[in-house]
Amino acid sequence: MKRKKSDKLWERALKVFPGGVNSPVRAFRSVGGNPVFVGSGKGSFIKDTDGNTYLDFLSSWGPLILGHAEPRVVRAIRSAAKDGSTFGATTRAEVELGELILNNLPFAERIRFVNSGTEAVMTALRMARGLTGRQMVIKFEGCYHGHNDALLARAGSGLLTAAGNIAEASSPGVPEEIVRNTLVLPLDDAAAFDAALKTYGDKIACVIIEPVPANAGLLLQRRAFIEHILNSARARKILVIFDEVISGFRLGFTGYSGRENLIPDIMTYGKIIGGGLPVGAIAGRAEIMNCLAPQGPVYQAGTLSGNPLAMAAGYAALKQLAHKNGEIYARLNKLATTLRQLFMAEIDPLFAAREWRIQLVQDASLFWFSFRKAGNLETVRNVTAIEAFSGKIYAQIFHAMLKHGIYLAPSAYEVGFLNAAMRKHDIEYFIATLKKIIGKLPAKIKDFA
Ligand code: PMP
Repeated sequence: MKRKKSDKLWERALKVFPGGVNSPVRAFRSVGGNPVFVGSGKGSFIKDTDGNTYLDFLSSWGPLILGHAEPRVVRAIRSAAKDGSTFGATTRAEVELGELILNNLPFAERIRFVNSGTEAVMTALRMARGLTGRQMVIKFEGCYHGHNDALLARAGSGLLTAAGNIAEASSPGVPEEIVRNTLVLPLDDAAAFDAALKTYGDKIACVIIEPVPANAGLLLQRRAFIEHILNSARARKILVIFDEVISGFRLGFTGYSGRENLIPDIMTYGKIIGGGLPVGAIAGRAEIMNCLAPQGPVYQAGTLSGNPLAMAAGYAALKQLAHKNGEIYARLNKLATTLRQLFMAEIDPLFAAREWRIQLVQDASLFWFSFRKAGNLETVRNVTAIEAFSGKIYAQIFHAMLKHGIYLAPSAYEVGFLNAAMRKHDIEYFIATLKKIIGKLPAKIKDFA
C-alpha cells in the first residue's frame, strides 16, 4: 500500500484545518494512523491519491446509495451547472424534486429543503417549539442528530432521577440554559419514557429519535418501543420527530416511517436526498409544515437552500430509487442477505475458540460489527451495552482491511453501508478478507494492545 502522497497531504492539512479535517471522524483518531486522501470514486470503489483502490463500505456516510459518480447523477449535475449554479430565486428543479418525494411519501404533504441534516433537525425543533409553545425536548442516548446545541447533550450524571435526565452539554460552547431544556433518555426503555412524560409532560414540545439508531453502532429498536413513543407522546400533544437522515430513502424509499407504517409528525432527511450534494429536508403534514415562514410564523431561510445543482443530483438519484417499485432496494436487500449468509457460514465459526466474537447487526443495507464476549447472543439496543474493548479490536480489523483494499468507517461506533453498485463478488471478497484477518487476531481480549 503506497502512502507517500496521502501522508504529504496530511502534513499540509494539519497546518490548514483544526485536526487536519473538516469533520472530526475523518481524522482516524479512534483507529489511529493517518487518513488516506481520496482522489476519486467510481461505482463501489474509491481510489486514493497514491493510486490504491478500495471497495468502499462508507458510501460517504450514507448518501451514495447508488455508488460513486453514478452516470445519471453526474449527467444531471453537469447539465444543471451549465445553466447557472444558484439564483436565490425559485426554480423548477426544486418543484420537481419536491413533487417526486411527496408523490412517493404518502404520509408527507409538504417539504422544505435545507442544506444538511443538522439544519433539518434544527428547524424541526424550532417548529415543534413554535407549534406547541413548549420548550423541552426529549432525545435518546446513543442517537445523533447533527451538531445542534440543543442536542449536543448527554445524560447529566448529577441529575439522574427516575423521571429521566436533565441533560448536560456534551461539548464546550453549548449553553447550559439550552441543554437544560433537553431530556436524555435510554433507548429501549418504555418505563423511563413514561416517567419523563409524567413529570415533564406539559412542558415537552417534542421527542426526537433515530428510529433506526445508526450513530453509536446500529442499535436496533423493538417496533413496540417506537410505537409506544408515538402513542404516549400523542396522548399529551407532544410532537414526534423521526430523524431519518440515515434511514430515509435507505430502508426503502419511504424510510422507517413508511416501512413500519409508524408515522411521526415531522420527518427530517439528509444524505441520500441530495444524491451526493448537500441537501437536508423537513417534511410532514401540511398543518404542521405550514408553520414555516412565509406561510407561518416560524422563521427559517437559506441562501443556497434548494440549490439547482443539489436539486438536480437529488432528483437523478431519487428518480432511480423510486423506479419500478423499488427494484434497487430489492437488489440491495439481496446483497445484504448474501452478506449475512456468508458471515454466518464463514465468519461466525471462527469465534468458537475465542473470548470475543463479532455479531453482525443489520437492517437492510446498513450493517455494524458488534463486538461481544463469547456466548453473549443478546441484541445490543443501548449504547451502554457496547463493550469497551470494541475499539481496540476494530482498529486492528480496520487497518488490516484497508491494506487489503477495503474501506470501512474509521470508528467502531459507525455503521457500514452497502451500495447498489456492489456485486455479489464484492461481498464475497469482503467476507474472504475478513476471514483471513480474523484468523490472525488474538483469541484473548487482553492480547489486543
Ligand atoms: N441526523 C442523523 C441521524 C445523522 O446521522 C446525521 C449525520 N450523520 C445528522 C442528523 C446530521 O447530518 P449532517 O451531517 O448532514 O449535518
